[in-house]
Formats: sequence, structure tokens, C-alpha cells
Amino acid sequence: MKGFAMLKIGATGWIEKPRPAAGPFDAVVAPLALAPCTSDIHTVYSGALGDRHNLILGHEAVGKVVEVGSEVRHIKPGDRVVVPAITPDWRTLDIQHGVPHQHSEYLLSGWKFSNDKDGVFAEFFHVNDADMNLARLPDDITLEQAAMMPDMMTTGFHGAELANVQFGATVAVIGIGPVGLMAVAAAVLRGAGRVFAVGSRPHCAEIAKGYGATDIINYKNGDIVKQIIDKNGGKGTDHVIVAGGPENVLAQAVDIVKAGGTIGNINYFGEGAMLEIPRLAWGCGMAHKTINAGLCPGGRGRMERMIALVANGRVDPSKLVTHKFNGLEGVEKGLALMKDKPADVIKPLALI
Ligand code: NDP
Ligand code: ZN
Repeated sequence: MKGFAMLKIGATGWIEKPRPAAGPFDAVVAPLALAPCTSDIHTVYSGALGDRHNLILGHEAVGKVVEVGSEVRHIKPGDRVVVPAITPDWRTLDIQHGVPHQHSEYLLSGWKFSNDKDGVFAEFFHVNDADMNLARLPDDITLEQAAMMPDMMTTGFHGAELANVQFGATVAVIGIGPVGLMAVAAAVLRGAGRVFAVGSRPHCAEIAKGYGATDIINYKNGDIVKQIIDKNGGKGTDHVIVAGGPENVLAQAVDIVKAGGTIGNINYFGEGAMLEIPRLAWGCGMAHKTINAGLCPGGRGRMERMIALVANGRVDPSKLVTHKFNGLEGVEKGLALMKDKPADVIKPLALI
């Protein structure tokens, strides 16, 4: 089968590989819609996860099941499914003692696609633990909506969960690419009052307003810490969600959040050995400014909740899709857009 792969750090290309087979609990899926991601760019061009050779890329897919293992009960061949980017090994003891997508000895263990096995940018891909990881897609949800669930929705929504957004709270969302835009929508759904959304591209700003952002902060117009605190009456915000920005963005979040406030980081820091925390703004360690940071949750239950949000009209993630391509080849064009980020691109989609 054909797949679009990371050949080595900094290089991508089409390769041929044998079609995967399903183990007893697994499934093989053929893609219906595939979305390239900023994380693919960190993986290939920053080598953020280390070097990989001929590893098929991609972790955001909606597909049709073509094969299931002998022990699979819930999922059947022919089912249309949302495939979460994160597919934990639900049968391992270690994850039952902590967070499902983090094995204590192997960080980010739930992130398998395009990390420790081939990803979804191929004619077929393998899904571990199909009954626990795949969610059946209702007919009335479009592929554009569904394709934003495996990563963009669950990650953005996790940002609001990690920041523990409260009713009526002030929230700063740093970064309003597709992940940050979903974080804006999630903060609003959790009852946020004022939402400062930080980005520079007008199209993203318009979509952010549509999802409920009250103030747009352009980081190109000066220090975002000062801009937000000035607009907020000289006070820090209750919460900050970090969904983009440079290496010092976590430090900026500590500066922006008030004492007792919470930061939710979903940014993928692709470079550098250390991240800095400003000592004084962190109250020399005593300001009760909490930093929660995490990988997006995956699994079937999480995807069914994302489906419920869309099916009940709480959020329409298809507003993120700005570019559509026909055919598997579209992932190459889409990935190039994610690398160059022209002003009008939020999220490209390949429809197969
Ligand atoms: P984008 O690159 O599309 O968006 C980044 C955003 O950050 C844009 O709004 C951009 O503004 C803004 N930005 C850029 N520079 C600055 C700056 N100096 N100060 C403040 N804001 C700035 O990324 P995505 O939305 O696709 O992804 C966001 C992050 O989430 C990535 O790091 C990605 O890898 C990560 N991620 C993490 C996951 C997880 O599980 N934790 C899962 C998926 C993604 P503009 O472009 O308007 O100038
Ligand atoms: Zn992604």
C-alpha cells in the first residue's frame, strides 16, 4: 500500500509498505478524511520526537473499517468511525494507575500514530484495541466536522479542562490556530466570561469571535502580557490556555495569570532543552499559580463525547476547515500548507 512518510528529519515522501493486519483486538481502517497537523510539522521538521525513518505520518482520521480481529465485538467491517489521535492500550495495568494515555515508564504512550507506529496517511492503517478506541460516526455528522474531532476538538477542549475554566471567569487563550480556536469554544461552553484570544491572522480572529472570544490581542502589536493586563483593568486573568506561541510562552502565561489562577498548556514545545518560569511572577514558587499540561485524551468514550457536542449543536468544528483536497495525495498538499501557514489556512483536509 501507499503512504506519505517522514523519511528522516526534514524530509517527507511517498513510500510503499505492506498493508497492516489486525491482531485479535484490533482493526484495519481505510481513510475517508485525513487532516495534517502542526504536530506533524514539529515531528518532521524539528525532529521533536527524535529521528524516524520511513514512518508514515498523520494521526487525524475518519475512516471505514475494513477488517477486525477475532475478539472485536462493538465495531464491524463497513462501520464509519472517528479514529482518535490517541489510542491507549486499555488492557495494560500501568495505565489503570494513572492517566490512560501516559504509561509511567513511557511518556505519551497513547500517542501511537506517526510516533511509535505508522500513522494514518496511507491507504490502510492499523488501530489497536478497536472496541475501546473507535467511535461509530452518526450519518448526520459531516466528514469535515468528524475530522476535527480526533485531535483539534479533543485537544482544544482539554486546554479548557486543564485550565479548569470556571463560570464567569476571564480566560486568555494564547494561539488561535485550530487548537486554540477549539479552546476558545470550549472555554465559552464552560461558562467563561471574558475571553482574550491571541493571534495575528485576521481570518483566525474572525473565527475566534464567532466561537465567543470577546477581545482579540495581536502579539505583533506589542507585549501580550501588557496588552491583556491593561485591557483587564490592570489584573491578571483567572485562567490561561496555551495553544501556540514561542518558547517563552509558558513564562508569559505565568505573567498573565493571577495569583491562584490556572494555566492549561496544550502546546507541543518542539525545540530546546528547558522551559523557563519567571521566578517573581510565580511568587518565588508561592503564588498558587498552577500549570497543568497534557496530551489530548483519546479513546472511544472521549470521541463519543466529541460527537455528542457536535450532534447537539454545541459547537461546529467544520469552521476550522479552510482547504479541501480530493484523494490521498491531498495530505502532501495539506502538510505543505501547515508548514508554510499562509494567512488564510486554518486546517486543510484530504477527502478520500
Ligand atoms: P497553529 O500554528 O495553527 O497556531 C499557532 C497560534 O499561535 C496562531 O494563532 C499564531 O498566531 C499564534 N502565535 C504565533 N506566534 C505567537 C506569539 N509570538 N505569541 C502569541 N501567539 C503566537 O497551531 P495549531 O493550532 O495547529 O496547534 C497549536 C499547538 O498545539 C501546536 O504546538 C501543536 O503541535 C499542539 N498540539 C498539541 C496537542 C496535544 O495533545 N497537547 C495535540 C495537537 C496539537 P498567527 O498565526 O495568527 O500569527
Ligand atoms: Zn494533530
